[in-house]
Formats: sequence, C-alpha cells, structure tokens
Amino acid sequence: MSGKYLLAIDQGTSSSRTVIYDHSTRVVASAQQEFPQHYPKPGWVEHDPEDIWRSVQAVTRDAMRAADVTAADITAIGITNQRETAVIWDRKSGQAVYNAIVWQDRRTAEYCDTLRARGVEQLVIAATGLRLDPYFSATKIAWILDNVDGIRARAEKHELAVGTIDTFLLWRLTGGSVHATDATNASRTMLFNIHSQQWDAELLELFDVPRSLLPDVRDCASDFGTTDDATLGGPVAIGGIAGDQQAALIGQAGFENGMTKSTYGTGCFVIANTGSTALPSSNKLLTIVASRFNGEVTYGLEGSVFVAGSAIQWLRDTLRIIDSAPQTQAIAEQTGIIADVHVVPAFAGLGAPYWDPHARGAILGLTRGSGREQIVTATLQAVAYQTRDLIDAMSDDGITPSVIRVDGGMVANDWFLQFLADILDIPVERPDNVESTVLGAAYLAAYQSKIIDSIKDVSDLWQREAVFEPAMSVDQREALLAGWAGAVARVRGST
Ligand code: ADP
Repeated sequence: MSGKYLLAIDQGTSSSRTVIYDHSTRVVASAQQEFPQHYPKPGWVEHDPEDIWRSVQAVTRDAMRAADVTAADITAIGITNQRETAVIWDRKSGQAVYNAIVWQDRRTAEYCDTLRARGVEQLVIAATGLRLDPYFSATKIAWILDNVDGIRARAEKHELAVGTIDTFLLWRLTGGSVHATDATNASRTMLFNIHSQQWDAELLELFDVPRSLLPDVRDCASDFGTTDDATLGGPVAIGGIAGDQQAALIGQAGFENGMTKSTYGTGCFVIANTGSTALPSSNKLLTIVASRFNGEVTYGLEGSVFVAGSAIQWLRDTLRIIDSAPQTQAIAEQTGIIADVHVVPAFAGLGAPYWDPHARGAILGLTRGSGREQIVTATLQAVAYQTRDLIDAMSDDGITPSVIRVDGGMVANDWFLQFLADILDIPVERPDNVESTVLGAAYLAAYQSKIIDSIKDVSDLWQREAVFEPAMSVDQREALLAGWAGAVARVRGST
C-alpha cells in the first residue's frame, strides 16, 4: 500500500472542503472555501460547475500544502457531496451545458404537479422511495434537456453526460475517463430503482431521460479510477463515494438495523438504518439507500427539518438578538425550559411529517414579560420538537431508535442536546469528531484501500465524547409536546 494518508473531499451546498487524515483517521490538515450561489429567478438556485471545480481544486491543494504531502503520500480519496444537484456536460470538452441546478431549486414544481395529476406518484414512490418533488434530480435533468437549445439532440447522439456533483467531480478528477456514481447518490435522483439497483426504465421514459446519459452505479467503496496527473500532480486512487447524509451515517458507524443519526447544520437530517428492508413510509418520509457494500444494500428511512441551524442564524442576522450562535447556550441555561412561548420556524413551510408548504413561521404565546431570552430558548426547543416529530413518524413506520447519534455545527450546544434527549426520551450521543460527513468519506477510502478489513471496523474507531441521558418527567415532556402540537396547528396553512 502506498502513502500514509487519506484525502476526503466534502463538496457541500455553500462550500467545498478537503480534509487529510492519517491512516488512523486523525485529522492532519483541512481547508475550506465558499463559492458563489446564483438565484436567477425567484425559487431558482444554481451553481456554476466551474466554481465548484475550482473550489475543490483550491481546497485540495491547500490541504495538501498544509499537511506537506504530495500525491504519492495519499493512499486513496473519498468523496461526499451535496445530493440531488444535477449537471449535464459535454463528454469531449468536459464543459457543462448549463449551470448545475441545485437541490433547493423549485423551478420544476409545476411540472411535478402535472405529473402528479397524471397519477404517477405511486409509481415514483414504489420504485425510488422518494416523493414526486422538484427536490430530486430527475425533473432538473429533464428541465435542462427541454430548455437549453439543441441539448436534447446532442443527448440523443451520446455527446453529453449527466451526473450529480460526485459524478461531475469524478469525471474532472479522472480527466474524463470515469463516468460513475454510487448507489446512495443514485437513490436521490428519482430515476434509480432502489429495489433492483438499476436505472428504472419506466421512470427514464416518464421523465424522458435517455439511459445513455447516465453514469454507471457502483458500491460506495469501489474502484472509481485514479486521478489524472494534472489534478493532484500524480495518480491517486479514488476509492469511495457517498451522498452527504449517508456519509454522515457511515461516519457515525450507523451500520446496524435501527441505528440512527441526526445531523444539525443549516437544516436537520435524520436517517435510521433499516437493514436489508426498504421500509415504505406512511408518513411521507423517504426510503433511501443508506449504503451499498459488496453489492449488499442497507436501506434507511430519512426525514428532514428545513430550518435548524438557520433558525439560530435568523436570531443572529435577522432579529439580531444574539451576537453569535454559541451564545444561545448561555442564554438557555439562564432562562431554563420555556413552556408558554413557542417559536415555529416554518420559514419555508413544514416538512415531514406535515408537508405543508403554506405554513409560515410564528412566535406564539408572548406575554408582557416575554423577551429575547424566551425567544432564543424557544428557538432551540423548536429544533428538538421537530426532531421528535420525525422520530415519531419513524416509529409509526416501524423503526424506533433507542439512541440517537448527533453531529453538525449545532451539537456544540450542550443545553440543546440535553433538551433533545429529554424531548426524545432516548440518550443522545455526541462523537469526539462531529464532522461525520467528511469522516464517512475518509472511511470509505480506508475500506477500499484495505486500511480497514471491514467497513464495520469503523464501529471500533467511533468514539463517544458525551452522552445526554433523558432526565425530564413524563408529565413535563407531555405538557411541552402538547404545547408544541398546539403551536404547529396554529401556523399550518397560514400563508
Ligand atoms: P452546514 O454544514 O449546513 O453549513 P454546520 O454543520 O457547519 O452547517 O453548522 C452550522 C450551523 O450550526 C449554523 O447554522 C449555526 O447557526 C449553528 N450553530 C453553530 N454553533 C452553534 C451553537 N453553539 N448553538 C446553536 N447553534 C449553533
């Protein structure tokens, strides 16, 4: 085995990051860079693929410089990425034919409505585990094919390639020699049949996407080719790919049926491992490929809260009642749990299990004595209540976590995690490394390059830094949850 290091690329929605680890997955160096967001029309969100590529190259070079390593010192590369965002490029020049359409982009909402009216939603759910929604890649790809001049004809002639961001990066890193993705990213395109693990012929026809445009789908740990010399200055094997939330589950060593992780960044994403069963949801959660190793699929149930850390940013940047996010902890510690004031941060509607796009945010229950402290504390509480809503939906679908592993920026807040444990009524575990997403990508590279014998060896590497045990009385919890349910009922459908 050559090299002493692993290199993990985390291509996120607002920034790109590269972390270099030693073979014990200790962080040696890292670099991060934001890149521009484009909002050409209301509801549209695009990234220039060249910005993405430039930022990935820059942070990779910076991290390698900081670690003082060359390509020869790196054993393998792992990639994790913002999911669903789709791009189409020219196979010869490697140039994108249009900007990447980002997962947040809603331009295909009407198209989705039209398809729904044709009664095809059940077909989509049954094959992909997803809901018929602009969020996923399929309608974004269809939009580019139908709206960029001459593109469909070029697609028919096999001149173009389609991919999510992992696939685009892989193409660029390998100098255009590999067109592939992994099963987790494929599972978020709405074109991939999660049961047969194949691109779904019926869906390709429905969305009018030629099969020849699509990448080869591989295991999360696979031979994804080697970098060309121009990229890192020498050949390095690319050994792993997973979408960001699935990579976080891997980073959290969530390999057993029932294991659950919740990532608290801008939004909050909960995934429960459901083993070899693709559990359908009656609560509008998503059935996903959590991972695929050696052809064996592990499924997951996923729910998300649109506004989590961004509610804290709202307190800081819009309401301007805090100076920094970490300050929320001291405020909540002094204030204590709030029962009468509720902040419902439904700024962009409510996600699972409500799925109410018309709901809007509200602060409820104010009295003359309510002020900044109550609003800040109630905002932290709201993120915990929303997690509880997701966990309840999962339980109703048949998977009840007995403990939850957390990561992401918000989990630095001990008060929030104690309240979360109290509200979920299960222990909340925080690992020593809360950067689970990029760590998950490094583990994939470690497994593929045989630094670890089995991906499950990650369980031995995972270390708990803190555990928050539920300590709240049943009566108090039920009263708080009833208060939250009342607040949610009051904001629903109130455009
Ligand atoms: P992303 O990857 O989505 O950019 P991060 O995982 O970096 O997000 O988390 C950043 C988010 O966490 C921000 O929205 C910030 O408001 C929130 N955050 C950071 N520190 C704290 C804290 N101590 N308490 C509460 N929220 C915090």
